[in-house]
Amino acid sequence: MRVLKFGGTSVGRPERMHEVAQLINDGIDKVVVMSAVSGTTNNLVKISEAYKAGDKTLVEKLLKAMDEKYQIFVGELYSTMHGLGKGKQLMEEKLAYLASFEVDGFGDKEEKIILAQGELISTHLFSYYAEEIGMDLKLLHALDFMKTRGGEPDLTFIKSATSKTLETTGKAKIYLTQGYICRNEQGEIDNLQRGGSDYTATLLGAALNADEIQIWTDIDGMHNNDPRVVDNTFPVHHISFDEAAELAYFGAKILHPTCVLPAKKEGVPIRLLNTMQPEAEGTLISNELTHTVNRVKAVAAKDGITAIRIQSSRMLNAYGFLKKVFEVFEKYKTSVDMITTSEVAVSLTIDDAQNLDAIIADLEKFATVDVDKEMTIVCVAGEFHHDGSGIAVKVLEPLRNIPLRMISSGGSESNISVLINSIYKKEALSLLNQGLFADEILSRKQNETWV
Ligand code: ADP
Ligand code: ASP
Ligand code: MG
Repeated sequence: MRVLKFGGTSVGRPERMHEVAQLINDGIDKVVVMSAVSGTTNNLVKISEAYKAGDKTLVEKLLKAMDEKYQIFVGELYSTMHGLGKGKQLMEEKLAYLASFEVDGFGDKEEKIILAQGELISTHLFSYYAEEIGMDLKLLHALDFMKTRGGEPDLTFIKSATSKTLETTGKAKIYLTQGYICRNEQGEIDNLQRGGSDYTATLLGAALNADEIQIWTDIDGMHNNDPRVVDNTFPVHHISFDEAAELAYFGAKILHPTCVLPAKKEGVPIRLLNTMQPEAEGTLISNELTHTVNRVKAVAAKDGITAIRIQSSRMLNAYGFLKKVFEVFEKYKTSVDMITTSEVAVSLTIDDAQNLDAIIADLEKFATVDVDKEMTIVCVAGEFHHDGSGIAVKVLEPLRNIPLRMISSGGSESNISVLINSIYKKEALSLLNQGLFADEILSRKQNETWV
């Protein structure tokens, strides 16, 4: 059994859905996880915001635009009156439902119900197309088996509920389900955060002990650097689970920040593939070691970081100080990403600054606090074994003219990170591209293998 996930752009147009149908109809048993049609979740966010703002006119305007977009989509997706009729009816029902919420009392619960509609729409529309062309495909309802407990996926429940659902649904070559959506422990509709369809795929891959999880997207694998920020990036064909986890967490948008963990835990390899170029090799994420000590694999960057420097009024030999510091972050349920220490102070970073003022107020009861906002963590991932040498120089040398607020190394053997002001991000990523990957870039230029 394989688990294949198709992202928003991979199903973003009717012809893309036709291509996905061809691609998955190859006789291999699989579960297909599908995202919402690209742009849909963003529109649903806007609709929810309009409800929250009490602006019913804006809700209507946004729904009208969504209706127009889907009328064209549905019109081009099907070639029979039967398929067309089912697609049109679904959209009528969904749009009426989205219009039926009350402005008064509209809150987070209602928002999550609205956000869930994108994946419900795409999977239903696709299943009618599959029926139209006679594919052996059955639709599974993710809300029956995807569950979180305390905000985290409940893999034990997901395992048993998924096998139960498969048993009651009966045999099919292809099972299709929604990415992103789930229920929380109260049974309410919830989601796995933006980009969460990747997470659904890896959780299902782990739950079903799949042979492989394939994440199909709009690029040919994990690139060595952020292709949205720098030119001349290229796919890295093999990375470890740890390297992939660091890159995803620190900003490589191709993967949801925490989706690598379930696959790593169960040892299920993940392959990143390109729907627009299915023959491209892509990236294999697995536990196989490549035995390339001190090899830099890729760079990623995460924006919106706040750095906090906490200086004890009496740090020298003051044990218990770090405990007090971390208790404050625990109290405000704020996770710390990067940390560096000296004898007199500790610096750390957070990306969720919702409770920053309260955190500072609590810290100031026993320390002096300085805050820097709009910072970026640049993460360099690779195989950096503790007994190797020269790697820090290699990573930092290209950044010699960039002010570095924090440097973190040794936390794991697969990551060296620096914290910089976000205004230097583009420059830093470009310098690292030239400094760390010049040979690969040159040989690709010579072979003209740019994609
Ligand atoms: P999907 O809709 O299929 O989930 P995403 O937009 O979430 O696709 O992720 C794919 C995008 O991730 C790419 O188009 C690319 O712009 C971006 N990206 C950011 N960093 C990387 C990287 N290191 N390698 C590949 N893609 C990256
Ligand atoms: N549709 C959701 C989003 O846009 C989930 C996903 O695509 O992974 O975030
Ligand atoms: Mg994504």
